Amino acid sequence: MSRQIKCECGFVARAETDDEVVAQIEGHIRTAHPDLVETLSRDEIATWVEVVE
Ligand SMILES: [Zn+2]
Repeated sequence: MSRQIKCECGFVARAETDDEVVAQIEGHIRTAHPDLVETLSRDEIATWVEVVE
């Protein structure tokens, strides 16, 4: 079982734990969507996590 988050642009972050996948998508948002960084909290991002096989 792993975790994934799909970004609206099509990027998919995938990792074994919630913390790791949130860290990955945060890194992606910082580089690909710097204008969104200010508007998103970690708690909000955590609600996007999907559990996948
Ligand atoms: Zn994106």
